[in-house]
Amino acid sequence: MKLVLVEGDITEQRVDAIVNAANSSLMGGGGVDGAIHRRGGPEILEECRALRASRYGRGLPVGAAVATTAGRLPARWVIHTVGPVYSRSEDRSHLLASCYRESLHVADSLGASTVAFPAVSTGIYRWPMADAARIALAAVRQAGAVVTEVRFVLFSPAAYAEFEQALADMG
Ligand code: ADP
Repeated sequence: MKLVLVEGDITEQRVDAIVNAANSSLMGGGGVDGAIHRRGGPEILEECRALRASRYGRGLPVGAAVATTAGRLPARWVIHTVGPVYSRSEDRSHLLASCYRESLHVADSLGASTVAFPAVSTGIYRWPMADAARIALAAVRQAGAVVTEVRFVLFSPAAYAEFEQALADMG
């Protein structure tokens, strides 16, 4: 599996599936979630509503992932995952790792071969970038997915630098 880091906007990625750092409601929000719904159009939210009504009446659990259409985006699918809110008193890294693992599992079941991730939980959910990068890269490396390319799309030069450093540290 090829692991690629890019600085950019995930809504512009030409890949089979992009991952959304959603919240449990699946009803949209700020950050990358807002950008995906804005650029992808109303079709994505319609499918999210249907998923709430059918399978996720209580919301999508933290660490889980589910796919919808990508609407007007260049990707074919959006895989929505719910990252944990960062906590200094409780170790939630297994939940963050689960977001990556479960998203890749969904990608495999769709037959997606290229997948782009944002840095889940590092915005509104306040996870420190360097730590999130380490968890994300380790989870993807360990996943053993059929996916051929995983692209991390980092939204700032600082985020890109943290991921680059974490990748170098992994050897
Ligand atoms: P969370 O609630 O999981 O923290 P956010 O969307 O607030 O989700 O932030 C997750 C990461 O996504 C942050 O590092 C943020 O800077 C980044 N981000 C925001 N918009 C985009 C975008 N269009 N493309 C890629 N990354 C983005």
